[in-house]
Amino acid sequence: MDVEEFRVRGKEMVDYICAYLATMKSKRVTPNLDPGFLQKLLPSEAPQEPEEWDDIMEDVDTKIMPGVTHWQHPHFHAYFPSGNSFPSILGDMLSDAIGCIGFSWAASPSCTELETIVMNWFGKAIDLPSDFISSNPGSKGGGVIQGSASECVLVSMLSARNEAIKHLKSKNPDIEDSAFLPKLVAYCSKESHSCVEKTAMILLVKLRILEPDENCSLRGKTLLKAMQEDEEQGLLPFFVSTTLGSTACCAFDNLKEIGPICKSKPCVWLHVDGAYAGNAFICPELKPLMAGIEYADSFNTNPNKWLLVNFDCSCLWVRDKIKLTSALVVDPLYLQHSKANESIDYRHWGIPLSRRFRSLKLWFVMRKYGLSGLQQYIRNHIRLAKYFESLVLKDKRFEVVNDVKLGLVCFRLVGPDSINQTLLATINASGKLHMIPSMVKGKYIIRFCVVSEFANETHIEYAWKIISNFATRLIGTLPKPISPDTVVRPPLTRSKSRIFSFTRSVSRDMYQRSMSKSSLFDGATPILIPSDEECDTPPNNEDVLNAIISNGYHQNEEEVINKLADLKVVESSNKPNEIKNKIKA
Ligand SMILES: *Cc1c(COP(=O)(O)O)cnc(C)c1O
Repeated sequence: MDVEEFRVRGKEMVDYICAYLATMKSKRVTPNLDPGFLQKLLPSEAPQEPEEWDDIMEDVDTKIMPGVTHWQHPHFHAYFPSGNSFPSILGDMLSDAIGCIGFSWAASPSCTELETIVMNWFGKAIDLPSDFISSNPGSKGGGVIQGSASECVLVSMLSARNEAIKHLKSKNPDIEDSAFLPKLVAYCSKESHSCVEKTAMILLVKLRILEPDENCSLRGKTLLKAMQEDEEQGLLPFFVSTTLGSTACCAFDNLKEIGPICKSKPCVWLHVDGAYAGNAFICPELKPLMAGIEYADSFNTNPNKWLLVNFDCSCLWVRDKIKLTSALVVDPLYLQHSKANESIDYRHWGIPLSRRFRSLKLWFVMRKYGLSGLQQYIRNHIRLAKYFESLVLKDKRFEVVNDVKLGLVCFRLVGPDSINQTLLATINASGKLHMIPSMVKGKYIIRFCVVSEFANETHIEYAWKIISNFATRLIGTLPKPISPDTVVRPPLTRSKSRIFSFTRSVSRDMYQRSMSKSSLFDGATPILIPSDEECDTPPNNEDVLNAIISNGYHQNEEEVINKLADLKVVESSNKPNEIKNKIKA
């Protein structure tokens, strides 16, 4: 492709993107396909000869796009937002065109310097402690853009491990570094993201996963007790990973209690993971949510989650950049150098050598929206989440299970988990709305996150209408006691029902083992349910119909029949009269 063809195709692509975003709202949020669908549509070998651009785009349109989940859809409420905005898309486009690899200052000076500048802008905007801002007088810290929050946690714990080994080695200089590993313990709460567990696994250190309080917040006394127990065993607490805005229910650890405990120990690094919520601190009124940040040694937040910047852009600030780079620099000469206040070589601030020009898109977004525009975006989401919460609270069939502070509402039908699994499965299968579940305080809950940049009241009211209508079909209009024995079978095949309720059934034995192991939530893995709580044989249409009727799914018989036909459960025995008689009986 030469520049003239690119000029034409580039403009066409912009038109394609505009059409995609403009027409998305009339499509299903999620595709309704079976795994392996694409393999059937595409050749198994790469083409030997060049192909026509029009043919490629034709395949995009007819084969790829039908299998895309529309994360920017106004009725997408799953996970956390996936940052997206036109200025950011344009920033990435330019970064791709420049195509530099900014591992050192010399490799592309603007790439390095802009990153430092926007990290200082952003750090100041969220009011991080002065030491984190490299341009502040006397500061030893600074910021860097990583690819993900997982990498931020990894390099933070790595730095902490390096410091802890140095500390132990000062007393035992002849012992090899790895011999100290069994002594090191890191801490986090059950609410932490699973990347903390993954990091501890990579770094071969123990991780103690602590119980949070009834508000899913890790408290100081729990941490102190665990540390004291470990110290009595001759272990060295070296790292605490806290969360502001947890993935499951957007809970906040108590930094004000945890911070001083970390500082009272000889060698503990305090990390604060605010992957989602951290972005919100650009709003002054939300600063109380990060009280205690002054104790942190490192902090991360992902503008690619909640600040309109496209993936990947995860911002990490450290209080002491020498501690970070010491753990990552291979060249000892460089270390001596780096103490002198000269240019930054970001390759020593993370795992990869190569780095994209990621600061461009963050810079574009900050300039085009201004902090006031970004604050407005965050506040709009919070306002809409509060509005959604108020609608849920008005309906006595439901309960809200988290303290709604930002854009995430966790709610459920009052009753057993199974009814909530069914509710979510039927909603997701309809393609009208998309949400995912999580486990909060031992219960299966449904997460509703405000996601779209252009979200407004209409979208919230639409979502609530869909949810409450499906609930009515399931349990009727009144709150009623539902016994855990009620077998509620969704009018879906078993495999579809599991896919759409984001659950996976495992043997009772495996279920118990995984519960006792207390793995952390990652926001993506299905929730485990014991298989004996499921039916062994796939329900036939008769079963489904009975289950629907016995669960009050019969407000209106026409509606039931249409619904059944919609969901394709009556494909084989499409006998409306029989169904009608049954409903009457
Ligand atoms: C999403 C999330 C992560 C993981 O983010 P990645 O950038 O995908 O690694 C970590 N912590 C929290 C609290 C999150 O919400």
